[in-house]
Parts: sequence; structure tokens; C-alpha cells
Amino acid sequence: MDRKRILLCLAHMSGNEMKYIQEAFDTNWVVPLGPNVNAFEEELKHFAISKPDINAGQVSETDDSDRLWPQSWPELQDREVVALCSGTAAVHLALVGLGVGQGDEVLCQSFTFCASSHPVTYVGAVPVFVDSEKDTWNMNPSLLEEAIKDRIRKTGRKPKAIIIVYLYGMPGKIAELLAVADKYGIPVIEDAAEGLGSRYDGRVVGTFGCYGVMSFNGNKMITTSGGGALVCPDRESKNRIMFYATQAREAFPYYQHEQVGYNYRLSNICAGIGRGQMTVLDAHIAHHRHIASMYAEAFDGSRGILFHGNPDSHCNSNFWLNTVTLSPDLRVKGQERAYHAAIQGAVGGAAGVVHATGQVHTDCEPGANVEAMRLYLDEANIESRPLWKPMHKQPVYKDCPAYVNGVSEKLFKCGLCLPSGPMVTDDDVRYIISQIYSACDC
Ligand SMILES: *Cc1c(COP(=O)(O)O)cnc(C)c1O
Repeated sequence: MDRKRILLCLAHMSGNEMKYIQEAFDTNWVVPLGPNVNAFEEELKHFAISKPDINAGQVSETDDSDRLWPQSWPELQDREVVALCSGTAAVHLALVGLGVGQGDEVLCQSFTFCASSHPVTYVGAVPVFVDSEKDTWNMNPSLLEEAIKDRIRKTGRKPKAIIIVYLYGMPGKIAELLAVADKYGIPVIEDAAEGLGSRYDGRVVGTFGCYGVMSFNGNKMITTSGGGALVCPDRESKNRIMFYATQAREAFPYYQHEQVGYNYRLSNICAGIGRGQMTVLDAHIAHHRHIASMYAEAFDGSRGILFHGNPDSHCNSNFWLNTVTLSPDLRVKGQERAYHAAIQGAVGGAAGVVHATGQVHTDCEPGANVEAMRLYLDEANIESRPLWKPMHKQPVYKDCPAYVNGVSEKLFKCGLCLPSGPMVTDDDVRYIISQIYSACDC
């Protein structure tokens, strides 16, 4: 049987993108600013402060969200969005906006993609990694407090910022994390790059912290081919971020620079793609959730495969990537042969230049049954991927302080991401599930 390869998460066009791109060409706005950029920002802002849709099943029928909205969160009304050329740039500018610099420390969730922590090093600061809790897989609030106290004890100074992440779209323990951050007066950056449209207590994630990061890379909830955005607390901070995103130009008739800036604005063409994508964002989120419910049902009651679902009623994940964990004693076909050959290329869709290692093992890697499952699915033309390797286990960060409890390392060793998103059909999901079951006796 000839099956098209099922990929982990792929961009899906709405059909409206070309209209906005054409408009940009017709009006000669082929620059990193313009009407599409402004409109895209407005649409994102509207989305970020929008009410949950009761009809879409995002909140319970008893939740009187009209009464709660927006009086419960007046500060939401001030939020502003800046469109940028990537999510990584958004993390970087959030740090710049908070004045993080040389020699500062920034607390960062260890269980994340490298784009949460790399920008900390761009500004000359040191990432201090904090491990996760088991429910949401995100930053552990009590470990965060322990880390803050210990850093103050050891350095005599408070860390400058806290970067929390919503891994695979799952909201973290936001109330608890914000309470700790507030207690010590440390600003929070929410890396919601994977969590576009996820909600915590009905509110869109990325609007809780001082700054919120969005990403529109090719594999995220929506795409602009490459792009990102930063949710800012108010108009004044938006202006400050825009200033740094456009080379920090002072108001003179000639180029006058008193600070270092960046070229991080989103192109008006890419913003056009984004506007087209906004017309299907809600549908995309609904589809990711629908696929999640299919996986959840399929693995409910299985022996050895656990689906990572919403742990409680606060969390309403977008299920950007659906993930499962394999019990260590689950036997998967071919696991004796797992790790026999070195990997050609690297994970990730970017097809960029990667370093070939020729090396088969590292000191922290997924279990043999996980690798065997990945290979088995690969043979069946299904792409899957191990969970992200925690940053405190990455050689590049080996000298950074880390506050660990074993949770992220354990998850990394037993977890797998499965195909998700609008390009994955119900039939695909049934096929994936049947292949997983035939790979093991679960
Ligand atoms: C994708 C991602 C980013 C960065 O987004 P880009 O747009 O790819 O630069 C940041 N943080 C996390 C957790 C991500 O998954």
C-alpha cells in the first residue's frame, strides 16, 4: 500500500493568504512594515484578549464567562502585540525590554526547545535551569522558589527574569508560578510559542506574564513561513520593543544611535500570510484538539502507553503536538536493534546545516523501546519524535546552574511526539494508532 508520509506537524494554508500578499504587491508595501503588519498585530491582539467560545466547548456550560469577562482581568485591555521575524527574536526582545544584560541570571524552564534559552546568552546573561512538575510537564513552582532563594544566597542578587514555557501547548501551573514570581518581584516571560490558543482558566496563554512570546514558524499552530510576535503589557512597552526591533533609531533627521538595536520586524509579505492564517486559527486549534481526543481514547486502558492530556480543569491545551509516554517495561518490536546506526541529519523540519556526529549514544537519550517505536513508525511512513531533551542535559549549557528533580529527564527518556495538526486526517490517526499497537503488545 502506498501511503503518503504523515508528518509531525505541517503548515496548512487557508486559501486566503494570496489575497493579502497580492495586496502588498499591488500597493508596493514589500518592506518590513505596512498595512498587513499593522492589521496582523490588531488581529493577534483581538485573539489574545478574546473570550472563550462556549459553543466550541472550551469552557463548561456553567461558566458564566460574560460576567467574568473582562472585569476579572482589566489589565488584559491594555495588552499590545508587536509582530517580529521569529519567536526567537521575541524572546530576545523581551529580555532586552526587561533590561537583562551582561552577568545577569535568568531562570528558565529546562524542559523546552532551545529558543527559550539561547536568547539569554545573546544578551550576555546566564540561564539558570529549573525542572518540571509531572502534571503539565512545565516549570515546577516550588523548585522555582527554591532556585530563587538559592541564587540570592549564592550571588547576593535576584535573577532578572523568569522564562516559563507551555511545552507542546500545555499551559503550566500559571497561578502558582506567578505567585512565586510576585513574591520576589521578578518579571515573567511566557514562552507561548507552542501554546498559541491554549487557555488557562479561560484566558489565552501569553497574556499572563509581563511579556508573552508567539511563534509562526512553519511547524507551529499557524505560520507566516517564519515569524513571531511579542505580547506587551501596554502601549509604552510596545513602543520600546518596536524601537529595539528597528535598529534603535533616535528621532533625528539623520541616523543617530544611542543604543544597540536589532532588525527584527516582520515583513509585510509574511504578515499577509499571517492574516490569511488567522482566518483558520480557531479551526486549527479545534482540529488539534479533535486529534488529541482520538489519541486519548485509543490509549485509554492500554498497557504501557499513556497519553498526555489536560491534567486539570485549569488547563485547556491546544495540543500543538500530541505526546505519549511509554512505560519502561513495554517491549517494542526491534528494540534490541535500536541505536545500532548513527542518525543522518538532524531532527527538525528546517533542513538547515547540522553537525554530523557519527556518534550513536549520548549520556542522556530516549529508552530503546522509544527509539524502536520511532523506527517502527518511520518504516510505516509516520514521522514521530522524542520529547525535547532538557536544556540542563545539553552539552552547550553544561556549566549553567540547574535546579533539577529528575522529572524532565525521565519524561525525555520515555516520551514520543505523534503527528498532529490540520494536515493529519482521522484516517491517518487511526492508521497511526494501529501501527503503534502492532509495534508492541500494549
Ligand atoms: C518554536 C519555539 C520558539 C521559537 O520560535 P521561532 O519562531 O522558531 O524562532 C521558542 N520557544 C519554543 C518553546 C518553541 O517551540
